[in-house]
Amino acid sequence: MSVNQQAHTGLPYGQPQPGYQGYQQSGYGGQQMPGVHQSQYGAYNGPMPGYQQPAPPQGYFPPLGFPLKGSPASPNSDTPALAPNILGALRAPLPTSGAAVPAAQPAYSQFGQGDVQNGITSSAVQMQRPSASQPFIPGTAPTPVSQPATFQQYGPPPTSVQQLTNHMAGMQIGSSTSAPPPAGLGYGLSTSVPSASGSFTATGSGLYASYSSSQTPPSVNMSHGLPPTSLSPSLSLTQPAFSGPPMSAQRLPQAASVVPPPCSTGIGPSSYPPTAGAPRPPTIQGSPLPGQVPTGLPTSQPNHVSSLPPHPAMSGPPLGPPMAGLQGPPPPPTYPSQSGYPVQQNGSFGQVRGPQPNYVGPYPGTPNYGSQPAPPPPPKRLDPDSIPSPIQVIEDDKNNRGSEPFITGTRGQVPPLVTTNFLVKDQGNASPRYIRCTSYNIPCTSDMAKQSQVPLAAVIKPLATLPTNEAPPYLVDHGEPGPLRCNRCKAYMCPFMQFIEGGRRFQCCFCSCVTEVPPHYFQHLDHTGRRVDFYDRPELSLGSYEFLATASYCKNNKFPNPPAFIFMIDVSYNAVKSGLVRLICEELKSLLDYLPREGNMEESAIRVGFVTYNKVLHFYNVKSSLAQPQMMVVSDVADMFVPLLDGFLVNVNESRTIIVSLLDQIPEMFADTRETETVFAPVIQAGMEALKAAECAGKLFIFHTSLPIAEAPGKLKNRDDRKLINTDKEKTLFQPQTSFYSNLAKDCVAQGCCVDLFLFPNQYLDVATLGVVPYQTGGSIYKYTYFQLETDQERFLNDLRKDVQKEVGFDAVMRVRTSTGIRATDFFGAFYMSNTTDVELAGLDCDKTITVEFKHDDKLSEDSGALLQCALLYTSCAGQRRLRIHNLSLNCCTQLADLYRNCETDTLINYLAKFAYRGVLNNPVKTVRDTLINQCAQILACYRKNCASPSSAGQLILPECMKLLPVYLNCVLKSDVLQPGAEVTTDDRAYIRQLVSSMDVAETNVFFYPRLLPLTKADVDSDTLPAAIRSSEERLSKGDIYLLENGLNVFVWVGVNVQQSLIQNLFGVSSFSHISSTLSTLPVLENPFSKKVRSIIDMFQAQRSRHMKLIIVKQEDKLEMLFRHFLVEDKSMSGGASYVDFLCHMHKEIRQLLS
Ligand SMILES: [Zn+2]
Repeated sequence: MSVNQQAHTGLPYGQPQPGYQGYQQSGYGGQQMPGVHQSQYGAYNGPMPGYQQPAPPQGYFPPLGFPLKGSPASPNSDTPALAPNILGALRAPLPTSGAAVPAAQPAYSQFGQGDVQNGITSSAVQMQRPSASQPFIPGTAPTPVSQPATFQQYGPPPTSVQQLTNHMAGMQIGSSTSAPPPAGLGYGLSTSVPSASGSFTATGSGLYASYSSSQTPPSVNMSHGLPPTSLSPSLSLTQPAFSGPPMSAQRLPQAASVVPPPCSTGIGPSSYPPTAGAPRPPTIQGSPLPGQVPTGLPTSQPNHVSSLPPHPAMSGPPLGPPMAGLQGPPPPPTYPSQSGYPVQQNGSFGQVRGPQPNYVGPYPGTPNYGSQPAPPPPPKRLDPDSIPSPIQVIEDDKNNRGSEPFITGTRGQVPPLVTTNFLVKDQGNASPRYIRCTSYNIPCTSDMAKQSQVPLAAVIKPLATLPTNEAPPYLVDHGEPGPLRCNRCKAYMCPFMQFIEGGRRFQCCFCSCVTEVPPHYFQHLDHTGRRVDFYDRPELSLGSYEFLATASYCKNNKFPNPPAFIFMIDVSYNAVKSGLVRLICEELKSLLDYLPREGNMEESAIRVGFVTYNKVLHFYNVKSSLAQPQMMVVSDVADMFVPLLDGFLVNVNESRTIIVSLLDQIPEMFADTRETETVFAPVIQAGMEALKAAECAGKLFIFHTSLPIAEAPGKLKNRDDRKLINTDKEKTLFQPQTSFYSNLAKDCVAQGCCVDLFLFPNQYLDVATLGVVPYQTGGSIYKYTYFQLETDQERFLNDLRKDVQKEVGFDAVMRVRTSTGIRATDFFGAFYMSNTTDVELAGLDCDKTITVEFKHDDKLSEDSGALLQCALLYTSCAGQRRLRIHNLSLNCCTQLADLYRNCETDTLINYLAKFAYRGVLNNPVKTVRDTLINQCAQILACYRKNCASPSSAGQLILPECMKLLPVYLNCVLKSDVLQPGAEVTTDDRAYIRQLVSSMDVAETNVFFYPRLLPLTKADVDSDTLPAAIRSSEERLSKGDIYLLENGLNVFVWVGVNVQQSLIQNLFGVSSFSHISSTLSTLPVLENPFSKKVRSIIDMFQAQRSRHMKLIIVKQEDKLEMLFRHFLVEDKSMSGGASYVDFLCHMHKEIRQLLS
């Protein structure tokens, strides 16, 4: 029954590979195939062959003949017994908002207008690809616009297609007529798009239309993932024990060392005499690096954290899963003398605290407040202030790097941290918003890389949303021949290609092959060997840009249709009873006006369709010519088919009246349902089949409430078993219970059918299995456990709004090419791969990352460095086929010290978390944790051995760029996936596991080490944020109110001694005891403190891709247990080590490796 029989084998470009048959080869690998170009626009100028309402394929049924397999209104279900055609009274038509918008400019027109007015009747337009070439004529929209293009076209001139070839050579920059700013807010192109130049159009996120100012957008904040510029927390942290030179000035020295509290119990390996085998002279054998000062000279390595005290338990019995040993009874406090430890001398910071049984944290009078009821108070040997502080590192980077733009012209530059707000100027390398690497200096040899154990990985976010003051990638049109590529490796033209022979040929920077420059692309070189049109062409001068793809980049050499969105709503008992069905229907009525639009398009090209389901599926015909929506029921879910073609996917504006009528009726129709069982796989199948029938890619939005136990393919059983935790079978909890969904996912990917899943469970519903299709199709999963209208509505609606409106590329394939010597070997994220090189994504949105790991396959050279080129072929929201290219050049080194100097720990942690979270699918969780610890110990031991200056073995010396590796690693180790607490469900873990796999570096950073701010310290008169504090209970004062956020939740913690006036101002109640813990939003009160706190929360919400759940926590209340889970520097309930203990443990591991 497939309309489109061609298998999507996912190799749209690149070297021809065996088995790659899906696309017609012509021209596809880059060779320009004569003959293709004559025909490729042919299909474009008219209805595509076989496209216009083809004879219904087998299995499809004409609209009115639907119930061949379906049954009208099954009596056994709660489906309302409707005659198919009658759904109730017709509602008054709503104004069609799209029509009211002034005629907009066409977004682009690389083909002349003449080419497109090719006689497509308006009735056909609905199904017609809104060609890239025309001022988009919205079919039968009420107000057809055929105005001339007023948008400055950078594309080929409006001549005929056949004249395109020579156009590019004549491109000039300089016309500064830039695109008019889109009318609107949001993530629009905005006025800041530089008025560029010659022949390219700004594209990318900017092309997605924003709300016009006359419209009222749903209150959704598009996140740029950046801290706001206006906020630069003034650092008022006290770091009392900090005795070395301030860390802040120390970004350059490469070693951070923790000063060891001289150690200690005498039983630890770090104490002299070497009980653990460490020879008394430090075991460091590496020769000092140039510039490094031998140990002992004060201030030579100001960031050194000197030796740690061995934790008492460290040298005892083997540590249990992870740090069990740390909680053992403290050894006799043989507090070490300082002998032999020139504390601070090494420029170390930190001070030793002896075991201080009465150690009192910042809580006056409440020693050890809230700490776990450990029998004897664990002796504190290490002053938390003396060990590397995430807060300090973040602040330092903000201060040092936040004020200057990050200019990408230089190879191998380490960008500012993700927590720093900075501006990026693309001068030939991709912005760190698109690509971040674990290291910007790669070892030249595989041996060196193995020695260091530093993973070489790039976290790539190809469609990242940029801040409005940065230009989105330009769209380059090379005309008929398509983008210029290397003949051999098919790399795309980029700034690193070397033009030779007077510009007649170019040598590939990836494979060294020499390729002829086609005549239309020829340009002379200047005296430096650079093409004189260097600055006119994004692909010669910028790190990121887009190419317009030709038909040879499309399935079957046919340009795609615009994508479709299908909303599929569970109408079983729970969904209806909770008010969810009504809520979704109400929201969709307005949300449909905000479907993604491209550029200045007047309306979205995306068509929509609607399905409801419980044990059976109900399709709706919402064709504009109908007086009423029609329902068609398919109860044979074993062999899913789509009962209607015409009228299922429609243009919102054309069918607005009937859609609104449908959305009004759905909640009524199922109001009295008693059906509790649901199916799931048939729902996805139905959506996919509908897209297939319409020959388009698209997205399914599925709103689902329960474990699908109804008889149907993909039926599941409840197999949750917490007893498996910490056993070898724990991994099965993360694995799908059937392979059915993997196969379904494969089919979805082939169709470009991306699935976004909104879950509303009241009990286990097997996220590990239900999540397979969303995960492998590049979709998202949202979960609202125990969904309640009052408390969860805002979060759900905000998520839905963001999700529907966000920029998405469909039917995408990504490939990462590398220069000789390294190769992409492993991939992490939400996608599907059918071979070893191509990442296939039914959909890829602006928030998703793909992490790529590289391995050596040859030696690299310091001179030439290493290059990456990420090419993403995708279909835009208007159906335009494009290639987005990101290039990045890295340095290569023969000295390990250079590697360690150019690492990025946040990215490293992002990679390690993904690596570990994938590892739990096939390994015992403990093994995964041990592997992580071991790898990081090796990384740090290698540094110590080869890069750090000789010093006592008792010192823990950390590379400056990695001094937060231990604290962050510990956060990953004790995260819910790797070490679940009692309250964490199997579904939570599966959910988090999938979520993290697609996170970018900023998201993992705050997810693993939450941001904690003292709200009561906020300056209500300024835009600044209060200075963050470390995530530890010791830092909390019972007289203050704090905010903690991790990207999924926002907690507001209220101390028991908070002034009554503050409580009144924030919560509107008279006392602490009156504060309700069930608030899901703060009351809107007209006082500066309330306004300030709400503005901070709103700002944080805007920075995140998901709406965070607000949780009010009163000190000593039961919810505080939950809150403490996020105080990640402390011991966790589930046995996770405190930061201090973990650092000791790492130190021991490192010493063992060195001895
Ligand atoms: Zn090449």
